[in-house]
Amino acid sequence: MNGFTHASMNAPFIVADGLRGGDGKEIGINGEALGSITVASAIAEADSMIVISHGKGHPTSGFGGAVKHLGMGCLDRAGKIKVHEVGKPSIDPEKCILCGDCVEVCPWGAITPPVIDHTKCCGELSCADACQQEAIIPPPDATDKMQKRLGEAALGPIKALDGRIGYINWVYDLTPGCDCFNFSGERFVEDIGILAGQDPVAIDSATVDLINGRMKPDGKSIYNVWGVNPWIHIEAAEKIGCGSKKYELKNLE
Ligand code: SF4
Ligand code: SF4
Repeated sequence: MNGFTHASMNAPFIVADGLRGGDGKEIGINGEALGSITVASAIAEADSMIVISHGKGHPTSGFGGAVKHLGMGCLDRAGKIKVHEVGKPSIDPEKCILCGDCVEVCPWGAITPPVIDHTKCCGELSCADACQQEAIIPPPDATDKMQKRLGEAALGPIKALDGRIGYINWVYDLTPGCDCFNFSGERFVEDIGILAGQDPVAIDSATVDLINGRMKPDGKSIYNVWGVNPWIHIEAAEKIGCGSKKYELKNLE
C-alpha cells in the first residue's frame, strides 16, 4: 500500500508477519496491561536486528522512534490489534453530517455512520483523524492506555532476540504524521542529525530531548504537535525493562 518494495528501496524487503499478517510468535512479557504479545516471526527468529527509525510526530504516541518500532512495527497483526484495541471510538450523532469520509479510511469496514461496529473495529483511530467534524470520539484515556501497551509490547522483540538489537534514529525531516500516512506534512522543526545506540529507551529519550531543545525558543515542545505526551510510552518501556532514560551523547564527527 505504501510502495515499500525491493524495487523502490533497492534493498531486500520482507513482510515479517507473513502474507496476511498472521505469522507471529507469542512472547511472555508480564506487563501491567499485557501478559504477552505476538512478535512477527521473521523478527522473532532473526539472528540479530538493527532498528532504523525515522523520528517523527505521531497522533497517538506523540513521537515515533525506536520504542514505537519495537512495540508496534515488530508485531504481527494480532499484536498490533492488542495494542490498539483500547481505542475503539464512537460517533457523536449530533456532530456527524454523514459525509462518509470515515468509511473511506476504515480498513476494517466497521463504520456505517453514525454507528461503529465494535466487533469489527480494532481501535486504530484512522477515522478520528479523517473526520473534519470531530464527531468521532475515542474512549477517555485511550491515548494513555495505548501508549502504555505500546511501551510494554516493545519488550516482546527484545526478549525474542535476547537483546541482540542495535538502534539508529534518523532525526531528519521531522514531520507531524506517521510514515504510514499517505501524505507527508511540513517539518515542524529543523533537522537534528543521526543518533545510534544499544538502548531503545535511551535513544528515544535523547531524540525527544533534542527535539524539545530545538522547539524551546518558540515556547513549544513535541507535545504541541498533537497535544500528546510521548513520555508515556517511553517511560512504560523503561518500567517494563526495555532500557533506561539515562543517556550520554557522544559526537563522533
Ligand atoms: S467523517 Fe465524521 S461527519 Fe463524516 S460520516 Fe464519519 S463521523 Fe460522520
Ligand atoms: S478506529 Fe479504525 S477500525 Fe475502528 S472504526 Fe475507526 S478506522 Fe475503523
